[in-house]
Amino acid sequence: MAELRQLLDQIARASTLYEVLGLEAASFEEAQKYITAGAIRGAYLRRALILHPDKQSLVSGADASGSAGAHAADPAADPRLAASYLRLREAYDTLSTAASRAQYDHNLWPPSSLLVDDEFSLEDMLFDEDDNMYTLPCRCSGVYRLHVDEIDSLYAESQGAGFSNVLFCQQCSLKIRIQCSGIGTDSEEA
Ligand SMILES: [Zn+2]
Repeated sequence: MAELRQLLDQIARASTLYEVLGLEAASFEEAQKYITAGAIRGAYLRRALILHPDKQSLVSGADASGSAGAHAADPAADPRLAASYLRLREAYDTLSTAASRAQYDHNLWPPSSLLVDDEFSLEDMLFDEDDNMYTLPCRCSGVYRLHVDEIDSLYAESQGAGFSNVLFCQQCSLKIRIQCSGIGTDSEEA
């Protein structure tokens, strides 16, 4: 089971939830551009197939809490298996939901550290009711998008004080910062 051992080592060494899934992104920009929801799901399924307790006859009875009738301890059994599977689930749960992924990314790559090409406020964006999405056209004819769930999550994180978030054009390499004032406060006076 060289594949399993290698995977357990990779997950143990992973310093981000992306790495737990076997995905690599050196920056927020890269993550936005290359790590799609489909890529996250695919990566999770590939690893879950190897790690899932039901697929593993290696699980030792010792600490396989959730799996009744676990097989007798195997010489190759690795006590890290259950922990690795939990970590994989946690990574998938966090990154597969737009709002929680946004929050995680926000902490991993603070938007204030990024250089942007332009700045706007949320009021500059158009609200698309069908998609629950704020959009803003890019000068390349591409579009910037911000989902309301993401806004809710960022507001909650700022405890209603307002926030800024960096958006990436879907088509070109431009990025903008969106400023959002606090709920019910008059930001014009600030
Ligand atoms: Zn663009």
